[in-house]
Amino acid sequence: MPFSLYLHLPFCRRKCPYCDFYKKVPKSGERELFLKALLSEMDLAATKIQWLNGGAQTIYFGGGTPSLHPSEEIAQVLTRASELWGIANTAEITLEVNPGTVTLDCLRKFKSFGINRLSIGVQSFSQRKLGLLYRDHTVSDSLQCENDARSAGFENLSLDLIFGIPGESIAEWRNDLDSALKLDPEHISLYNLEFHDGTPYENWRKSGRLKPLEEDSEADMYLLAHDVLTAKGFEHYEVSNYSRPGFRAVHNSAYWQQKAYLGLGPSAHSFDGVNLRTENVADLTAYLSAVWVSNLPISTQTRNSEIEQQEEWVSLSLRLRDGIAYNNAILNIGAQKAQDLWRRAAALPEHLRTLTDSNFGLTPQGWFKENSVMLHLLEFVN
Ligand code: SF4
Repeated sequence: MPFSLYLHLPFCRRKCPYCDFYKKVPKSGERELFLKALLSEMDLAATKIQWLNGGAQTIYFGGGTPSLHPSEEIAQVLTRASELWGIANTAEITLEVNPGTVTLDCLRKFKSFGINRLSIGVQSFSQRKLGLLYRDHTVSDSLQCENDARSAGFENLSLDLIFGIPGESIAEWRNDLDSALKLDPEHISLYNLEFHDGTPYENWRKSGRLKPLEEDSEADMYLLAHDVLTAKGFEHYEVSNYSRPGFRAVHNSAYWQQKAYLGLGPSAHSFDGVNLRTENVADLTAYLSAVWVSNLPISTQTRNSEIEQQEEWVSLSLRLRDGIAYNNAILNIGAQKAQDLWRRAAALPEHLRTLTDSNFGLTPQGWFKENSVMLHLLEFVN
């Protein structure tokens, strides 16, 4: 089956205290060691994973900070993917880039090796916010990075922004949105800051050192972003994602459409496109140890039950602006459950959903209340 390929490159220059991704500040020689292991894991996956019998439709280098790797290392991974599976001619190939970690020359090389989309971790155009997030780049690094990316010939840029930082005002957030628009990116991803268990941010919240924003303020920011960006021609096509027409993220869309994806590198997840989900071990030493003895570094493997698959299909579909077509609901969850879903959708407050006989979707207000909306909707499945 054709699939999307995700590569988790876990190294960062330092750890941001709100981040719950698996990441590591590299010790000397660790990056090179990891690269060898990643190439070996690709070989292992090609021989041991049965459902990988088509080419890579999209490739995404995430992390971590993949742009800490020299372009030649990224090229090695792309070459190996091409040898093992083939890469579709039209494949979207994305690299996450953190401002301050790449030069123009380096970006030109990434481009020449086949990367055709950059996701730039701007996070904010407010130096105050960047400081609160303990980011190690400046606003001018972000501007430089975007400028260099255009000079290097990239025609598909995505910017990441975070909102809902303790003490953030709506004016500060508005400035982030306006500054992003000035750069005219093709795609923007917006993240509402979360306090994840085990992170320093969560510990600081518990101890009172950080006070989260009120949910109403976060909702105002979320809805402001919707109004500002859609007024400028962006399509709010997924809960957290906006694109110019024709520039939806193809790789991430594969996740939301329950297509098959192979995740390699520590902590990466895979899905066979049917019901099998696996997760790699989130620890570099354990990852290297497994790969060196020719084992896939998988820590958990689960097969979704039919009900779990249906729940997942409904939740993922409703993340997209396209929502759920009634005919598709019948195909995916059956006629009775499709009817039940429509009945439950009708019981939701009108401002949270759009509902006709043929389609059901959530409004931005519905997306902001996603968790409680899903709880209400998914009772029908059981
Ligand atoms: S740079 Fe990104 S992956 Fe690394 S610690 Fe910060 S938020 Fe996490």
